[in-house]
Amino acid sequence: MTTIFPNQPPPFEGRNLFAIDVALQRSLERHGAAWAVPELMQWGAALGTSETYAQADTANRNPPTLRTYDRRGERVDDVAFHPAWDALMRLAMAAGEHCAPWRAPQSGAQVARAAMYYLHAQVENGTQCPLTMTYASVPVLTRHAAELPRDAGSWLTKILATDYDPRALPIGHKRSALIGMGMTERQGGSDLRANLTRAVPDADGAWAVTGHKWFFSAPQCDAHLVLAQTDAGLGCFLMPRVRPDGTRNAIRINRLKDKLGNRSNASSEVEFERALAWPIGATDRGIATILEMVQYTRLDCVIASAGIMRAATTHAIHHARHRCAFLRLLVDQPLMTNVLADLALESEASLWLALRLARACEADAVDAARAAARIVTPAAKYWVCKRAIAVTAEAMEALGGNGYVEENPLPRFYREAPVNSIWEGSGNVVCLDVARAARKEPDAVDALLDELASVRGAHASLDRHAASLVPLLRGVADDPATARRVAQAVAIAVSAAELVRHAPDYVSNAYCAARLTPDICAGAAFGSLSRAADTRRIVERALIG
Ligand SMILES: Cc1cc2nc3c(=O)[nH]c(=O)nc-3n(C[C@H](O)[C@H](O)[C@H](O)COP(=O)(O)OP(=O)(O)OC[C@H]3O[C@@H](n4cnc5c(N)ncnc54)[C@H](O)[C@@H]3O)c2cc1C
Repeated sequence: MTTIFPNQPPPFEGRNLFAIDVALQRSLERHGAAWAVPELMQWGAALGTSETYAQADTANRNPPTLRTYDRRGERVDDVAFHPAWDALMRLAMAAGEHCAPWRAPQSGAQVARAAMYYLHAQVENGTQCPLTMTYASVPVLTRHAAELPRDAGSWLTKILATDYDPRALPIGHKRSALIGMGMTERQGGSDLRANLTRAVPDADGAWAVTGHKWFFSAPQCDAHLVLAQTDAGLGCFLMPRVRPDGTRNAIRINRLKDKLGNRSNASSEVEFERALAWPIGATDRGIATILEMVQYTRLDCVIASAGIMRAATTHAIHHARHRCAFLRLLVDQPLMTNVLADLALESEASLWLALRLARACEADAVDAARAAARIVTPAAKYWVCKRAIAVTAEAMEALGGNGYVEENPLPRFYREAPVNSIWEGSGNVVCLDVARAARKEPDAVDALLDELASVRGAHASLDRHAASLVPLLRGVADDPATARRVAQAVAIAVSAAELVRHAPDYVSNAYCAARLTPDICAGAAFGSLSRAADTRRIVERALIG
């Protein structure tokens, strides 16, 4: 019999993560993906079980290990995962998290997949790394399909398959395939032109790659898109894990990284010893080729960070609804209600921003939304990822001492949050991308300003903020030191516009008042919403049940 201890909240798990999320349901309707509700209802139920939470915990307490040689002394460079990792991968691939919009393209498919990814992020994040990279590789591989080797057809077919298959086999023998990316070298990951790894032509259209990668996540993937120098310039190559003849490709895993978070996922350091690879795109256009993939991985960083914020916020609200202090539930104590409402605003704003960007990836997205996304995506990558770090820290405190203890997932979310800010373009790098787009892409700037103009009159502080963006965007071209300021201003402006358009007034008004009013207290720490904010309703909306 379970002992009931007074004042200890019941477990959070055992609920349907989609059914309890009003804002997510609304955003699917608004972004043309209402057809996906039945599937997402099932997905939210599968993720929310105590079994899935336990698998997430187990996979992170038992990180992967490197097995360099087999028992005969043969070099194998294998990574061994706990079965909990495989169970999570199987679940996500069966749902199509790595491929659904490419496998069954239809209007709203990118938004539906973003919702799926957002829900997964609320439970476990390490598994999302190979799923993201695989999803993001498809547009590049599709564009260059004709240049791939003879069995290339099987690469795309296997990437779009949903039957998880971790075996190290030639692609023709696999049920499905996962793809990774190898860009970062010891001497630096932001400045990829400084890469030292070299590729030289070999037989039959294949190339031989020699060098290293300092970060090479998910080395168990069936292939990686790798950058390497050629005589023409920096090229992009598809490097398989196993050669077509069944022998291992010459990718030596030196060690696995001992990471702050993201511990269920393997991130490695590798050496290539004339590893077999095939060029993707022109051999001097590697950065441009892989950047198409990076756009999608950045989108996933935004969605995952929004999901982590949602998880942290809902765990905090759940705790406060069941925990008393001074003879009153925490959720009813005005200062705690203020903190929770402020977290909920940040969480909902990031959801709308993320799905706005996913919508821009749809084949039928309007041109203006797609153009504006060239500025808004790096801005959101900067801002939403940064906010996840602050939100997870504050949410942890709402649970008091329990929040700091590893038996609940908040410490894991807290350790996970910074990686989305570091990889796929660290903070400064993506802000400089915002500056570059502001300088070189006037149609993106015009589209962004038009988008904000379409909500003019809804909130005076948003109107003022939108007007102030014009000189900021112009000025950043000559003053890169302002790039963070500009990226933040863009991300908050678009978040506010999304809330004005789609969320109830009490949410959008509170967000605009808190994030766009020049108030010395606003934003420095959560829990400083003004008295005008309807904090109780904001918290009620954030977690149903
Ligand atoms: C867990 C994990 C997994 C990873 N997995 C992969 C992977 O699978 N494949 C892969 O290729 N990479 C991977 N990375 C690497 C990641 O993408 C890089 O760490 C990142 O791109 C930054 O590169 P760097 O570490 O060399 O830092 P640096 O390039 O040295 O940058 C250091 C700092 O300087 C800033 N900076 C750089 N240029 C400027 C500038 N002009 N002005 C102002 N500031 C600047 C950056 O924003 C950053 O904050 C992974 C990283 C982590 C942490």
